[in-house]
Amino acid sequence: MKAVIYTGKEIRLKNVPVPEISEFQVLIKVKAVGICGTDLAIIKGHLPVKPPIILGHEFAGEVIKVGKSVDPSWENKRVTSEINTNIDFTCFYCQKKLYTQCISRKAIGIDVDGALAEYIAVEDYLLHEIPDCLTFEEATFIEPLAAAYQTFEMMPLDPSDKIMAIFGLGKLGLLILQVAKSKGLEIIAVDGSEKKLELARNFNADHCINRHEEKSLPDKIKELTNDLGADVVVDATGNPNVLNDIIASCRTRGKVHVKSTHGLATPINLTDIVVRELTLYSSRCGPFDKAIEGLNSGQIKVKKLISAVFNLEDIEQAISSLEKSRDNVKTIIKL
Ligand SMILES: [Zn+2]
Repeated sequence: MKAVIYTGKEIRLKNVPVPEISEFQVLIKVKAVGICGTDLAIIKGHLPVKPPIILGHEFAGEVIKVGKSVDPSWENKRVTSEINTNIDFTCFYCQKKLYTQCISRKAIGIDVDGALAEYIAVEDYLLHEIPDCLTFEEATFIEPLAAAYQTFEMMPLDPSDKIMAIFGLGKLGLLILQVAKSKGLEIIAVDGSEKKLELARNFNADHCINRHEEKSLPDKIKELTNDLGADVVVDATGNPNVLNDIIASCRTRGKVHVKSTHGLATPINLTDIVVRELTLYSSRCGPFDKAIEGLNSGQIKVKKLISAVFNLEDIEQAISSLEKSRDNVKTIIKL
């Protein structure tokens, strides 16, 4: 089968054997894969992985073969998969049902071969059926949307949390925006791309700030919030250099939530966090059932987030156009 391999230096389209499935796995014919900031971080060498590895972890496809111990009714189902595989179901975290933090977990497309290939083998416990109303392309948003819901699972809001500033309007920022609006929050959306700000307006962001037009983002956000700062500030930029602006834009006793996984270390103003008693949150993979429900009910819309669709053969072109364009929200590889 054709697969996109990260060699440690670059990505290459290669022919590799179709994966064998264990008795607990299914074989999925991949139909669509989203390219994620994490994939770019790996390709740039910022996020260490053990090459050679097939990239890709936001995907959807069709089950074409089931292992001996798998419920045969999965066969022919349209599915997506969670990314944390190799779960032991026995460790400290598994006993607390925190499977995405299992000590033996491996992430698909990061630690083990991923979905930028014609076929992928995954364990049956990772599968979720895709509702009929979603195309395979739209279904690739289930994984990142689950991560957007996880923002609020990890950071319960209190009644004084009314205004959320979101820095970075890529796929994750625009999904968090939609989930936050469904919770009644007032949104200040920040990005440098007019196209992304336009999308944020479409999703009913209350204030849109083009960062290129402001001398100081914290000052601008204070101007919009009675000189206080936002109650909650979310980092979805993928750029560690803006973290101090993000901290400074948060009101005293407010919440700062970091979503970026760029793989880079950065100095942050811890003193400001301590003196103003800010709470620092973070979150990663989330509840697929909530994401599927959000899409199925029509509350969350993803069609407009698809910026470009490429064939697997054109992966290099897809990556290079993604790196060049600041307006790109989501590139999908269709198979
Ligand atoms: Zn475990």
